Amino acid sequence: MLSKRTSDNERDIAMKKVFSIAIDGPAGAGKSTIAKSLSKRLGVIYVDTGAMYRAMALYLIRCGVDPENATAISDKCKEADISIAFENGMQQVLLNGENVSGLIRTEEVSSMASKSSVNPDVRTKLVELQQKLAEKEALVMDGRDIGTVVLPKAEVKIYLTASSAVRAKRRYDELKAKGEDCELAQIEADIIERDHRDMTREISPLKQADDAVLVDTSDMSIEEVEEKLVSIVEEKING
Ligand code: C5P
Repeated sequence: MLSKRTSDNERDIAMKKVFSIAIDGPAGAGKSTIAKSLSKRLGVIYVDTGAMYRAMALYLIRCGVDPENATAISDKCKEADISIAFENGMQQVLLNGENVSGLIRTEEVSSMASKSSVNPDVRTKLVELQQKLAEKEALVMDGRDIGTVVLPKAEVKIYLTASSAVRAKRRYDELKAKGEDCELAQIEADIIERDHRDMTREISPLKQADDAVLVDTSDMSIEEVEEKLVSIVEEKING
């Protein structure tokens, strides 16, 4: 039984070598919360690939690109230079040098990111950036295609999921806590639509890698998920 600790054992895991932990799963499964806390415990960086697709989407919105116009997306995405930096351990995403981290969490950007991320030119560009980051240092990276496409050789792969009802309720509580007006049924409908698009797209659809460990967080607390992931990482990396 693992206790919550930043023990020598966990530091051993982190120092072993340049290893990668890939976490994939649908929107709202808790990937970013867990990936953040896991990376902290292991002393490695956390890379949020969704933020890169969101920054690209913001650029396309600013350019007035129609989300259904694949040629325009392919053309415009070439002009967007996306990079990341870390400020107090937190990932910042830069779009042509501008820190846009505070501008990418809107519904408009979510919707454009979900649509533009099916574009092969967008994906090629961002996957290359993600692979370069993983060559350089140990990290926890989350997204939709990390274990299947971006880092097929990742030492640890986790597929984190939860029922759409649970994911919608988590999002609803988050928005309500921020004082935003929203409707649970609409949030769940949006989540189901985005899952469908992510799972059925031609390139890099969201799916569990053959060698990924499935973790269903529907009935788990954040602490329980974190403990579960630490035990998976220990087992995979330390044997
Ligand atoms: O994870 P997040 O909701 O921030 O991702 C935004 C969108 O970017 C998702 O809806 C998904 O379509 C896309 N995405 C992707 N591949 C990734 C990460 C995100 O297609 N690795």
